[in-house]
Amino acid sequence: MKVVVIIPAAGLGTRMASAASTKGKKPAASKQFTELAGTPILIHTLRKFAASVEVTEICIALRGNEIDGFRARLGTEGFKKTIRLVEGGEHRQQSVAHALAAISATPDDIVLVHDAVRPFVTVEIIRDVIAAARKYGAAIAGVPATDTIKEVQRTAEGAVITATIPRERIVMAQTPQGFRYDVLKKAFDEATADGFIGTDEASLVERSGHEVAVVMGSVRNIKITTPGDMELAEFYLGK
Ligand code: C5P
Repeated sequence: MKVVVIIPAAGLGTRMASAASTKGKKPAASKQFTELAGTPILIHTLRKFAASVEVTEICIALRGNEIDGFRARLGTEGFKKTIRLVEGGEHRQQSVAHALAAISATPDDIVLVHDAVRPFVTVEIIRDVIAAARKYGAAIAGVPATDTIKEVQRTAEGAVITATIPRERIVMAQTPQGFRYDVLKKAFDEATADGFIGTDEASLVERSGHEVAVVMGSVRNIKITTPGDMELAEFYLGK
């Protein structure tokens, strides 16, 4: 039984661009290529999956103009696993759909999806998500909420609270998110047919009627999104 990892890495990272680089002529590097201790974030992430004994192959969705450069960079890493590069799409879901169309898998194979910009995933989290995906057909890594979560209505000045969501019922979804191939394929086909766009793969699988299990992620498994996250990432890397 194969375990294929899809890494959507075709985002522009506009939330990462500094005020100076957005004003300047040169486009900012996509956030997945921002360097952390001299190595692109995406390479840090790939090393984790390369180190996972369960993972059979990896498929990365990239912006078209970044494929050749990244293929050359991959050559210097000497990864032993098969790594396929495909062109991403307009949004994350489309990038994952392109990768899903490029891989070959049987219904029972496991497909993991992991954000390129979460380099602090561990081999233990990867292993736990794979095991739960095998057992339940669908599973994600998540962490319990520690803050109290408010539902709000946006106003001209900011926002006002409309409800407080009981904290014990809240989990912050992370990646990897793992699925049996047939479960994920069905969910993507239905979402495409309905024009539904979700911010993660689990939301597609939930709406297709399949239960999704949650396994413990880690508060360190951050999604590097803003310049402030880079400071935290450098701190984690130094530990
Ligand atoms: O921007 P967002 O937080 O949704 O990005 C999450 C992940 O999805 C990132 O790894 C990013 O590179 C990827 N993505 C993608 N294709 C897009 C937009 C985002 O692969 N068109």
